[in-house]
Amino acid sequence: MKPVDAAVIGGGILGCFAARNLRRWSISTVLLEQAEDVCTGITRANSAIVYPGYDNKPGSRKGEMTVRGNAGFDTLCQELEVPFNRCGSVLVTYDGETLPRLWKKWEQGVQNGVPGLRLLTGGEAEAMEPMLKPGVKAALYAPSTGTVNPWQLGIAAFENAVKNGAIPLLKTAVTGMEKTESGYLLKTTGEDIFCKVVVNCAGLSADRVQELLFPPSVRLHWDGAEYLVLDKQAQKPGRIVFHQAQSCGKGITAIPCVEGNLLISGVRKPIAAPYATTPEGLRALYAQAMDLLPGLDLTQVIRSFGAVRPNPYRQTGESIHDFCIENPAPGFFSLMGIKTPGLTCANELGMYLAEQTAAYLGAERNPDFDPHRNAIPKTEDPEIVCQCEGITRSEILEAIRRGAATVDGVKRRVGSGMGACQGSRCSFAIEGLLEEVRHGAL
Ligand SMILES: Cc1cc2nc3c(=O)[nH]c(=O)nc-3n(C[C@H](O)[C@H](O)[C@H](O)COP(=O)(O)OP(=O)(O)OC[C@H]3O[C@@H](n4cnc5c(N)ncnc54)[C@H](O)[C@@H]3O)c2cc1C
Repeated sequence: MKPVDAAVIGGGILGCFAARNLRRWSISTVLLEQAEDVCTGITRANSAIVYPGYDNKPGSRKGEMTVRGNAGFDTLCQELEVPFNRCGSVLVTYDGETLPRLWKKWEQGVQNGVPGLRLLTGGEAEAMEPMLKPGVKAALYAPSTGTVNPWQLGIAAFENAVKNGAIPLLKTAVTGMEKTESGYLLKTTGEDIFCKVVVNCAGLSADRVQELLFPPSVRLHWDGAEYLVLDKQAQKPGRIVFHQAQSCGKGITAIPCVEGNLLISGVRKPIAAPYATTPEGLRALYAQAMDLLPGLDLTQVIRSFGAVRPNPYRQTGESIHDFCIENPAPGFFSLMGIKTPGLTCANELGMYLAEQTAAYLGAERNPDFDPHRNAIPKTEDPEIVCQCEGITRSEILEAIRRGAATVDGVKRRVGSGMGACQGSRCSFAIEGLLEEVRHGAL
């Protein structure tokens, strides 16, 4: 391959948005992803919340990017044709002890410029969300909070980056790096890549990728979260409900997703196996969910899953709370341990990396950049493959044409297998279509 201006390592949501935004300039860009598809790492297992921006300290990068990222979501999702629901949120507390935390968040939110933020009495919160257990002490209402499907958004950014000329190199892991006179040489499991700028978006491995060339100043320690997904039929709150826990960190969260399911998240713990759930974690999740929303019908749970968070620590042991963007040498940028609210800020972080790269390279704006991406259209094809979600054969074939290489890749593009049967009725047929395409029969 000819030398390129920028090489993005990692095709999670952050790498996809970095590549998309780099193409706003005349910066030739490759995106290297070790898996056979994009958005299969942290991006596929998270809470899907577009945060309002009251959780972060005024003046912090997180605080500023979250409020700006949130405000830009309607336009972003229109450009990329991804569903977005600005459903709002209530953060509730049931005891006097945690009230000061709620007030602090209100103060931070006001200082950060979060629109429409309002403190509610317990009665107002219970009237707003009748499923809440009675006895709410106070609540913080944020109308700008929303939900979006994280992998759909990441895949849309990826497709738009490629449409604008970014070169995807999937199944290509970066295994080594050298400094050259004009930039960097990336050793990969495929061909060698010469580039002027490296943009390291390797998620859980970002510290190890940087370490291929520079001594680490930050280490990522992983911990986890567990989730329950309830069927669309289940009764659910109208807004996202956060429970202000007594311990630091958030308590349980109930998220009415854009697809219509209810997602329950909580319980962070040291993890033994990444992305795995545990019997004790799920038991605690069930108990806390019933405590906060006693009317929940947990027989409607159709799936559980585990998630992994990379927590950045300095070598001194100090934990880093703000977004950590390392720049160990000219033309080398690393996103280190970008956890919540990385989804909310994906476009902002990508834009920051693109601006830094453009300034370093002295690049011009790309006059041909087109921010628009077409979603896979719903079709009237009578051949329905996924009965639960009404996904047709032609929609599945379009997903495969756009790069889905597995049943899971198809799911993440058109939503097949996300209904009550969780793919038990359609996976076989989808695998058959993938086989036929692989063998050129379709
Ligand atoms: C439990 C949890 C809940 C969250 N909830 C929210 C939320 O509600 N709202 C919000 O705003 N944010 C949320 N976040 C944060 C958000 O999900 C993340 O910030 C974001 O998904 C991180 O994306 P990423 O691209 O860095 O990582 P990933 O999606 O993991 O992508 C990194 C990619 O790099 C690839 N890679 C690694 N090493 C190499 C290599 N050597 N060569 C090539 N490729 C490589 C990996 O295969 C992977 O695909 C949550 C995070 C967690 C963990």
